[in-house]
Amino acid sequence: MPLVLEPSPTVLAEEARGRLASLVPTDQMEPTERPEVCPKSRGRVVVELYSGQVFPDRCRSSQCAFCLPLNARRRCFAITYVKPKRMIMISVLANESDGSIHLAARKRIGLVKRNLKRMGIAPGEWCWTLEQNPEETGYHAHCLQRGRWIPQAELQEACVRAGAGIPYINKIKQEGIWTSRYGLKGFGANGYGLKGFRSTDDGRQALRINGGRMEHHSRGFFTLEGERIHVREVERRAIAEMNGATRTAYVGSTVDRAQSIVQDGQLRDTLIRSINRRTWENLRAMS
Ligand SMILES: [Zn+2]
Repeated sequence: MPLVLEPSPTVLAEEARGRLASLVPTDQMEPTERPEVCPKSRGRVVVELYSGQVFPDRCRSSQCAFCLPLNARRRCFAITYVKPKRMIMISVLANESDGSIHLAARKRIGLVKRNLKRMGIAPGEWCWTLEQNPEETGYHAHCLQRGRWIPQAELQEACVRAGAGIPYINKIKQEGIWTSRYGLKGFGANGYGLKGFRSTDDGRQALRINGGRMEHHSRGFFTLEGERIHVREVERRAIAEMNGATRTAYVGSTVDRAQSIVQDGQLRDTLIRSINRRTWENLRAMS
């Protein structure tokens, strides 16, 4: 039998001190390591029936550290899909002294647009996100605009009168990736493609600044061919467009059942047919 030594009182005291030290509160931010799967997925998966690929399921809440970057990525696709024409950066839209940062920002955006209208300029439709300036110098905004060109001088005048900082308006030359990266990088949505996708920024901080939302948009921003479309539907269409001719059909499942679905081609065919039938019936019900 191996000899078991009692730990010495000195060692025990040291261990206790170590444990206590780890409990001492600090004002340091909690490290925001992104979990490898959604903690709320409870082991469930999603199977893509045509390819047989299995993905971990997710809760889709933006409060979830795993799901937020994926949600932001979907939103980027939706924003890109409606083809905004210009970017407007406003150097300061809210300050530390403003009680609620996003409400103050929202109010100033409203004032900027009102001021433009008073100058006879149509502001168009906007989608914007707040980011913190370095060294507590307030919060700047990245806006994407659809509609007519706004001259810099008038935009600047409208911003100054609204109590906001200096704006810079630029035409979006490269539609696509560039737009999607712009403004939403704070949420970890820093590019297309799952492989290149990294969540390095503090998404929770970005969410807090923006009042729990990934972006703020005017009612007509998500419009396709003159029809206003719900942003979630725009996300779906954008992703379908990206998939192109690649057909997809997803089912939720337990891990165990996923294994049999993947191995059984006939079962997959049956499931695909039933999904397509349901989609068809839903379409008929809608029309
Ligand atoms: Zn989640």
